[in-house]
Amino acid sequence: MKDQFEREISYLRISITDLCNLRCRYCMPDGVCQKDHRDILSFEEIQEITSAAAELGIHKVRITGGEPLVRRGCVELCRMISGIPGIREVDLTTNGILLPRYARDLKEAGVNRVNISLDTMDPEKYAYITGGGSLKDAMDGIQAAFDAGLTPVKVNTVLIGGFNDAEIPAFVEMTRETPVELRFIELMPMGGEFGKEAYLPGQIVLDRVPELKPLPENGGVARLYRLPGGAGRVGLISPLSRHFCGTCNRLRLTSEGNLKPCLHSGQEISVRSKHGEALKDTLRQAIFHKPQMHGILDADHPSEAGRTMNTIGG
Ligand code: SAM
Ligand code: SF4
Repeated sequence: MKDQFEREISYLRISITDLCNLRCRYCMPDGVCQKDHRDILSFEEIQEITSAAAELGIHKVRITGGEPLVRRGCVELCRMISGIPGIREVDLTTNGILLPRYARDLKEAGVNRVNISLDTMDPEKYAYITGGGSLKDAMDGIQAAFDAGLTPVKVNTVLIGGFNDAEIPAFVEMTRETPVELRFIELMPMGGEFGKEAYLPGQIVLDRVPELKPLPENGGVARLYRLPGGAGRVGLISPLSRHFCGTCNRLRLTSEGNLKPCLHSGQEISVRSKHGEALKDTLRQAIFHKPQMHGILDADHPSEAGRTMNTIGG
């Protein structure tokens, strides 16, 4: 259905846990997650909410978190979601660490493709940024996604000044031979531990790799580029320097059952314990009243979300 600003809302992002097996410094810097298991939606509740949303025109779902693959039964949930009439695409965002174990099962359960987070290709820096993660595990996860046919694989890289900007050309080089879509995402001020100097505009990628040529394809929230003759693509996602509120088609559901019509607004509407027409009405209201745009968002004006990313679902 359309919101009051005539945007067709067709994409639901579902966070199924706040927990994670990593501790990325920009996402959950204090490394704590207080939530009790009873506070989060059961798979049956998620299925019921998604079915109601599908009746209102949602046809694409992304499963995220925290780290979705640490929730027991994630594959089964994906199967439940992909079987809902009207749902045409189910994707997953993951740090990749558990993909060698689950990639084939996810594919078989109806998952179309995965986005995998990778902010550096240096093992020591990877351990630093993720609070102890292993780069090899993440790279094995990317390979497992390819092997399972969860394609096109997208790799998400958050641009962090002073941390990974020197690696931009090496990241882009990866797309020359590999059919991957590498997406550079501007760091969003959401309570992580980086200061002002860490916020880099997406434009820096084009400055560092002038060889990149723009593509006419619609990349959703990403502007797309390619190296001449490159097998993969490069996407720039610039929520700070070029926000995309005017074409935003998303609705979010947090793990405890709150709808968030806008990532950067504090507005949340609980759908927990709502059923049937009451559930659909709440979804309709949330969609219709989706804010036209978020407030100013830059290094001096933090997000009004009031939560860190792992508790929303990036
Ligand atoms: N654990 C999974 C992962 O890392 O892909 C899924 C959840 S994570 C919150 C989803 C995405 O949000 C990741 O690509 C992560 O890099 C991104 N993210 C987290 N905090 C962010 C921030 N402050 N600014 C920009 N992106 C952020
Ligand atoms: Fe975990 Fe993903 Fe957040 Fe990193 S970005 S701490 S992997 S939820």
